[in-house]
Amino acid sequence: MQESGLIKFFMSPSKIIRSQRKTLSISINEDAELIVRAPKRLSIEKIQDFINEKENWINRKITLVENQIKDVTSNQNKILYLGTLFPIIIKPQASRELIFTGEEFVVKSIEPNSLSLSLKKWCKSKFREIALPRVAYFADKHNLNVNQVRIKNQKTMWGSCSSKNNINLNYLLIMAPSEVIDYVIIHELAHTIHRNHSVDFWRLVQLIMPDFQQHKQWLKANGYKLRRV
Ligand SMILES: [Zn+2]
Repeated sequence: MQESGLIKFFMSPSKIIRSQRKTLSISINEDAELIVRAPKRLSIEKIQDFINEKENWINRKITLVENQIKDVTSNQNKILYLGTLFPIIIKPQASRELIFTGEEFVVKSIEPNSLSLSLKKWCKSKFREIALPRVAYFADKHNLNVNQVRIKNQKTMWGSCSSKNNINLNYLLIMAPSEVIDYVIIHELAHTIHRNHSVDFWRLVQLIMPDFQQHKQWLKANGYKLRRV
């Protein structure tokens, strides 16, 4: 390796995942770490060259994720519900683990494990209560056939629709504004007609929700806020 190469050798991946794949890929995970996926026998020099080439993109992306982490950390004493942040108040004598008063979340304990557990439970049941009638409403209005609706926490997906028209929805969406929840529901409902993201698919989404772009965009820009419970 040349000297200039050595000097540039400062950015190293946190993790290299080797597999049968034929191409190299880099990504930044939610902890702002650089992850490299590489073919089994590709030399470390080749990997480093690739990283050096993508340095600007990597730096930009790491800064973005670091800012997101700062944002999430600074709001740790608040809970996002339908797009609004509400404060957490601790009352050890409270009758339940977690109560939403309309203005604040009252919790018995902020011990991370117990808070995370009660919050997950609350999000799931609240999301079910809000989302299921919306699925029925849009399906009915636009004559779309839905089989089962399942409410889950899928780590990487907001929703999905199977070939049997079973729809899965991520309950962390309860933190998003209600129009964003509607957008994800409409997106999955449109997949009961178009199994892809073709022009016809997006046309149907737009027909049902003319301003869907801004809600799609909200999710792209703010999705990170919904992921950490
Ligand atoms: Zn889709």
